[in-house]
Amino acid sequence: MRASLERAISARRLTTRRFTASLGLLFAVWLNVVAGCRDANESGIDAVVVGNSMAPACWGEHARVKCDECEFSFRVGRQKDKLPEKLVCPNCGYRSIHSSKADPQPAQLVRVDSQNSASSRKLGRWDIVAIRPSKGRPAMIKRVIGLPGESIEIGHGEVFADGAIVRKPLNVAREMRVTVFDSLFGSAEVLRRFLPQHGARDWKVMDGSWQFSPSSGSSGTQWLAYQQWRCVANRLPRAQPVPVEDWYAANVGINRDLNVTHDIWASLECQIEENGRFDLKLDRGSASHRFALDFATKSVTFDGRSYPMRDSGFSSSRVAAGLSVVVEVCTFDRQMTLLIDGSEVVSVDLTAADGRAEAASYVQIGGVTSKLRIERFRLWRDIYYFDVVRNRKLDGSIALRAGVDEYLLMGDNVPISIDSRHWPSPAVSADQILGTVSLEH
Ligand SMILES: [Zn+2]
Repeated sequence: MRASLERAISARRLTTRRFTASLGLLFAVWLNVVAGCRDANESGIDAVVVGNSMAPACWGEHARVKCDECEFSFRVGRQKDKLPEKLVCPNCGYRSIHSSKADPQPAQLVRVDSQNSASSRKLGRWDIVAIRPSKGRPAMIKRVIGLPGESIEIGHGEVFADGAIVRKPLNVAREMRVTVFDSLFGSAEVLRRFLPQHGARDWKVMDGSWQFSPSSGSSGTQWLAYQQWRCVANRLPRAQPVPVEDWYAANVGINRDLNVTHDIWASLECQIEENGRFDLKLDRGSASHRFALDFATKSVTFDGRSYPMRDSGFSSSRVAAGLSVVVEVCTFDRQMTLLIDGSEVVSVDLTAADGRAEAASYVQIGGVTSKLRIERFRLWRDIYYFDVVRNRKLDGSIALRAGVDEYLLMGDNVPISIDSRHWPSPAVSADQILGTVSLEH
């Protein structure tokens, strides 16, 4: 209780300092303690997010915008009066959304759970924490990237700890992924992003979805390729195919070079004929990976090996009932995982096969001998970590070291976050960590 009172007092001091002109304040979190607001709240502090250095996980004041063309709703990290006149839809690339339609949104509320501070519990990598960086500086929220005693390197978008690539558990990756495209918010324009490849004549657009119905005499795999478009302000045609890049819709109005990311997560909601099969292909850099999904043998073939569909009973019964199944492929952190209805089927290390060429990350769906209907296609990307100094691209890497009882922290909105990459002393000691952060709304 005494500790929480001290924290409350210091948080009130932070409130006063909120009005101090400070660049750091823009990227900080203001800890707003409301005395008596909660019962049994001694271990927690209510906080209001200031700034968008943790977007899209946490939002400070921002605006919500709906695309006139595809009706995709997205958030931009600025107030209405500071937005450019025209906004670009990050989903379909429509470039004439008038910013007068932006709907101002309050900052998100979060709860800082001080019982989970580093002094009482070892923090995990990827935890979101609130910290008090140093005397006279406002508190801020960041994500734990480096653990005590680790040497962290950041390069080519990835995080390496003591020389080994750091991989996010799938549940964490799911939380941290950034939306790139959702065909549910579609239009005729958006469906043009899927292109039947040479000789693929049995793919058709019907009722806003792509359907494959093999004609008699057809043989071989007929590929339907997804192409990413440049959905940022640009003078080139929006239908120009580009690789997936580390664009943040939150950062409208900030000019910088975008990094190509090979770390994508694709999800297909599809209806497939009973005992049917289809193929999936991922081109990642210079490497191409192909899966054959066979619901008759309840197996997936990849790279000459057969993997059983673990919850095949469930998925097969859904297929038999004419319900859709969800097939996902994730290539985050140089690992490729295929999931069917949320169950992991194949997981392979891509370190050796990793192509660094700046080619597009295309997903292709292969119709074979069974009917198939793609009802919804979604694409996300991983956070691309880089050295943000002067917004330059990072071809090499930076190395940071955490001492005993110290942590390295970064914001999810890598281009604008001020964090361990910039601080004179990159590591934060355990006693500077106020607690882990959970979202209230
Ligand atoms: Zn749109």
